[in-house]
Amino acid sequence: MEGVTDNKRVLLAAPRGYCAGVDRAVVAVEKALELHGPPIYVRKEIVHNRHVVSSLQAKGAIFVDETDAVPEGATVIFSAHGVSPAVHAAAERRMLKTIDATCPLVTKVHKEAVRFASDDYDILLIGHQGHEEVEGTAGEAPEHIQLVDGPSDVANVTVRDPEKVVWLSQTTLSVDETMETVRLLREKFPKLYDPPSDDICYATQNRQVAVKKIAADSDLVIVVGSQNSSNSVRLVEVALQHGAGASYRVDYAAEIDESWLDGVVTVGVTSGASVPDVLVKDVVAWLAERGYGEVEEVVTAEEDLLFSLPKELRRDMKAKAASSS
Ligand code: SF4
Repeated sequence: MEGVTDNKRVLLAAPRGYCAGVDRAVVAVEKALELHGPPIYVRKEIVHNRHVVSSLQAKGAIFVDETDAVPEGATVIFSAHGVSPAVHAAAERRMLKTIDATCPLVTKVHKEAVRFASDDYDILLIGHQGHEEVEGTAGEAPEHIQLVDGPSDVANVTVRDPEKVVWLSQTTLSVDETMETVRLLREKFPKLYDPPSDDICYATQNRQVAVKKIAADSDLVIVVGSQNSSNSVRLVEVALQHGAGASYRVDYAAEIDESWLDGVVTVGVTSGASVPDVLVKDVVAWLAERGYGEVEEVVTAEEDLLFSLPKELRRDMKAKAASSS
């Protein structure tokens, strides 16, 4: 029994946590608060993480569901998940100042949708019903886009011309499940056209590769991330599919149930792309207090991508700097 206790360890997946798009969106809200002072309105959660949202609320950000909840003339930030052209138009009608923090990798998918729609393709958008990103992308060309919510949805798909059909996807899906959906779609539509480049983003892919690497060696995988964070929820699924004894998602270390550790020697830890690393550190500290003090980081990729801040914000920051010099 002594031996089991001595072997207790943590495998920490890397990459994990913040991606370039989330970092940019969160910094955009912080900079807007500094520049314009509170309140700053944000349509929807800027990123899907409870801790990030409550920290920004404490600094003066007000999160609203729709732009009609923003006072006329105020500043509103669009979240990293992107918005449809109808939302831009609604903001314009209310004369809102907008800062668009849509991740550039989501914008890329919007542009693909616009292009294929203008070429009159039927677009099969693989994604989760009701997710904000999917609503934004579908809103670019509603008459050409239909949602395919996973392999079980393929049977329902009909198109106008099977020679002119393309698939696109949400950026934060399970790579394996999406490939299965595409395989089934291609069985049905052999001429199915692929997107010009991967829509599932680098951060989602890298975090899934990293969790696969630690899953088989882990009796338990703890994923830090919020319940509405698509890529965090996918990490739990991927961990289970790749050999983890069990896997749970938590927002905070305090949510970990001590009973999950019964008989557990190795705990894998990772986090979704919207999760600040401080929350992972809290989980690692919580585990250390229970004997899991040995931590090995398992690195499967290095990430150095950075996005510049939204252009409206850069313009305002430059103007402020010029006026105060
Ligand atoms: S998860 Fe991917 S698409 Fe979403 S914000 Fe991060 S980099 Fe952009």
